Amino acid sequence: MDSTPVLVVGGGLVGLSAAMFLAWRGVPTVLVERHAGSSPHPRAIGYTPRTMELFRAVGLGGRIPQSPPGFKLRRARVESLAGAWFEESAWTPENPHAPSIEYSPCTGTALAQDRLEPILRERAVELGADIRLSTELVRFEQDAEGVTAWLRERGGREYSLRAAYVIAADGHRSPLREALGIGREGRGHMRTVRSVLFRAPLDAYLQAGVTQFQVEQPGFSAFLTTYGDGRWVLIFSDDEERDEATLRSLVSRAVGRSDLEVELITTGRWELSALIADRFASGRVFLAGDAAHTLPPSRGGYGANTGIEDVHNLAWKLFSVLSGASSPALLDTYDAERRPIAWLRHEQIFARADYKAEAAGTAGDARIFDDDAMELGQLYRSTAVLGASDTLPPAARPEQWAGQPGTRAPHAWVSDGDGRRSTLDLLQRGWVLFTGDARWRAAVEQAGLGLQCLRIGAEVQPSDADAFREALGLGKEGASLVRPDGYVAWRSLDLPVDPAGVLTKALRQVSSAP
Ligand SMILES: Cc1cc2nc3c(=O)[nH]c(=O)nc-3n(C[C@H](O)[C@H](O)[C@H](O)COP(=O)(O)OP(=O)(O)OC[C@H]3O[C@@H](n4cnc5c(N)ncnc54)[C@H](O)[C@@H]3O)c2cc1C
Repeated sequence: MDSTPVLVVGGGLVGLSAAMFLAWRGVPTVLVERHAGSSPHPRAIGYTPRTMELFRAVGLGGRIPQSPPGFKLRRARVESLAGAWFEESAWTPENPHAPSIEYSPCTGTALAQDRLEPILRERAVELGADIRLSTELVRFEQDAEGVTAWLRERGGREYSLRAAYVIAADGHRSPLREALGIGREGRGHMRTVRSVLFRAPLDAYLQAGVTQFQVEQPGFSAFLTTYGDGRWVLIFSDDEERDEATLRSLVSRAVGRSDLEVELITTGRWELSALIADRFASGRVFLAGDAAHTLPPSRGGYGANTGIEDVHNLAWKLFSVLSGASSPALLDTYDAERRPIAWLRHEQIFARADYKAEAAGTAGDARIFDDDAMELGQLYRSTAVLGASDTLPPAARPEQWAGQPGTRAPHAWVSDGDGRRSTLDLLQRGWVLFTGDARWRAAVEQAGLGLQCLRIGAEVQPSDADAFREALGLGKEGASLVRPDGYVAWRSLDLPVDPAGVLTKALRQVSSAP
């Protein structure tokens, strides 16, 4: 029987990202996707700076056009595109007190899902992933040593594949999650809505910088937005099937003109629901993306973006376990770290303005976190982090954390001999120890796991060394241990008597060394 260390089921944004992140780490990976390519009706368009940081790390920085710095998606209530425009509703939540700090080398991006997926697919293949389109997983069985998957190609050929681990990125209905009997909780199903995707020459209406329109007319309301490439989508708030003539007439009403040539491309039917799986793993199968958490489209962009970071979190852990550097206990931290993030996002969606009226008691009086905190300042608590106490908030802005273990190591521009780089470019491969004190170097050499010592002022030269140490929360003698996903695992504020002993113990603990 054919075998692979990791089988990814589902070739949407999350499955493709999983294959790409794993292949980049050198983990042989097979991905199966039942369709021949991307869906003709894109869903996602908005990706956060954090997602772009993860893509940048695997060499996609130059291939995905990014939004200009300071870009904000704008939404307005209108009678129609050509008719009256009313008030704008702010991106949730504006924070007038937010400091102007450059948190990331990346900005977000707006790119239709069916344009992003081929870029991810191509990169995954370049890195060595085996992507099998038109191939469906029909059933699977797992035992103590692995998972056997039965696969069926579109032409009818059936074969089995043995995998050490499986990632179920098979969407919100997730046949794998259902087969595992994993339930879901949350706000639940809210409604089913329909959409029509069309092409029309409407760029003139984008000149004011607004790209999302809530169309309100007596007896007709719908949401209109563009994929930025001549394609637009009109989303109705009900589940009514409409014939072509009705769709054309409603597109004309939303645009406010009947003189334009409109090409109807396809229609869509979407279930708006908010549901989080009770467990993100069962044995050797891990749920990721919509299979793990279905979150309604919101201005937080919590759908695909959350799923992409799920698999980034999982990829280094699978690599570490498969390479023998970590025991399988490390994989338990996937659920421990990512499920609370899904719940935090669920809570934010219903606490914020977009869905507040539909919270049905699920958000309570939840505190609203700003987007910088949600994207770049979420806190992980698990055995792969030391020193993230239960009293800490679930998210805060990076400068508020100041290098707190369990949060993303901060971005700063540094010179490393080859020119100017972000600190993030030095992370996300292996374990790194940042320190300003040369006495940690011998400790790093003894600690193992290929730990790399990056001495502030030597290997990394920030323009302001004190400010960088402050961003890491370190004094002159301290050290910060950063995981292969760029999260701080542990730090020592000073130089202990036995740095080698202390560091080795911390590294063994957070890496679940066997
Ligand atoms: C209108 C709309 C707009 C949205 N906008 C945004 C946005 O701007 N930003 C954002 O972050 N999110 C957005 N989302 C949410 C986002 O689209 C989803 O969260 C994301 O696409 C989920 O990706 P996924 O890979 O987990 O699942 P999916 O994209 O559903 O992919 C699952 C894949 O698994 C395949 N599959 C299933 N079962 C099997 C099997 N047995 N064998 C083989 N293959 C299988 C399916 O064919 C499918 O291709 C939006 C959603 C909607 C509806």
